[in-house]
Amino acid sequence: MMLGRLSRFPGGSRRLQRAYNALIDPKATKVIKSTNPKAKTPLEDLIFGRTFTDHMLTIDWDNKNGWHNPVISPYGDLAISPAATALHYGIECFEGMKAYKDSKGKIRLFRPDCNMERMNFSMQRLAMPSINSDGLIECISQLLRLDESWIPEKEGYSMYIRPTAIGTSPFLGVHASEMIKLYVILSPVGPYYKAGFKPVKLYADTENVRAWPGGVGNAKVGGNYGPTIAPSQKAAKLHDCQQIVWLFGPDHQITEVGAMNILFLLKNKDNNRNELVTAPLTRGDILPGVTRRSILDLARSWGEFDVNERWLTMGEVVQAEKEGRLLEVMGAGTAAVISPVKSIMYNNKEIKVPTGDNVGPVAMRLWRALCDIQYGVMEHKWSVKIN
Ligand SMILES: *Cc1c(COP(=O)(O)O)cnc(C)c1O
Repeated sequence: MMLGRLSRFPGGSRRLQRAYNALIDPKATKVIKSTNPKAKTPLEDLIFGRTFTDHMLTIDWDNKNGWHNPVISPYGDLAISPAATALHYGIECFEGMKAYKDSKGKIRLFRPDCNMERMNFSMQRLAMPSINSDGLIECISQLLRLDESWIPEKEGYSMYIRPTAIGTSPFLGVHASEMIKLYVILSPVGPYYKAGFKPVKLYADTENVRAWPGGVGNAKVGGNYGPTIAPSQKAAKLHDCQQIVWLFGPDHQITEVGAMNILFLLKNKDNNRNELVTAPLTRGDILPGVTRRSILDLARSWGEFDVNERWLTMGEVVQAEKEGRLLEVMGAGTAAVISPVKSIMYNNKEIKVPTGDNVGPVAMRLWRALCDIQYGVMEHKWSVKIN
């Protein structure tokens, strides 16, 4: 992906072009400290995404001044126009990343450049200006250092970081937003599965489609997520399934699970070799997960089984299960890292993954390897210290 480029101002003088391209400048950050810090939620009571720290970061953009006014201020409500483009046309996108405390008390980010690259991609898809990756990472680092005491130090715990960009122009025309607010909030989180791994039952939805070739499934835009909630509620209620497997096309190609990428470990029927399979990023309907990419990189570096980005259909999975070639299934994303799957409901039949309520050896090994890098147990270039 060609990202991090500067946007071209659509017409106008050179002065406007310069302003339009003004970068995020972390040295200009103004810090307004909270005068009444909140009481911290006990770690065991943390619920994903419900607790926020004392401060937030906001940075403004408009088409005259470019990026300006980076401010770290007490966490609080935003005031935006009821005509703001974010509220009418979904000119909103976001990122999900984490900061970890290592055993020496250092704060670490995991591949933050990948999140910035994806944020740029999502923003450009919504005709928003680009961001300079290094500038935003440094502003986020300033925020993390200020709210450092909120970063949990316990194994499995971390600080979820939510960068968000919204269109704030008060204008009802369907046009590029002339004003943008970029903000970052922090939420301390515990392990996704408190009592160890809990493999999930999935529902392969043959009716609702999350994303399609040429669509925006490859961008983290808010509009992709709201419409998934009602089908998920239905899958939970009617089939007792925790997540939906999103399919595409008459042959039911497997795209993603919930808001995670999905990977299958199978024995290939043609060459009898084990292969880790996930959907390719070639046609715009798969979110390019940082966890997905890291898993593929790690598995390829191990060289112990084939690693293929190819389309897998539900028919192929049904056949593999019948022939004893279905080995492991897992979801992958920042929140859970690895989410093992125990079964998939498809056309009223339950396809059982042989690992059942246990975690498969490959899923376990990938999870361990990723966590060791994220928490700095194993030094790796993906883990970036920020203090
Ligand atoms: C965020 C997200 C993922 C996972 O991406 P990570 O970078 O690994 O967290 C996968 N699929 C969807 C639809 C997502 O929104």
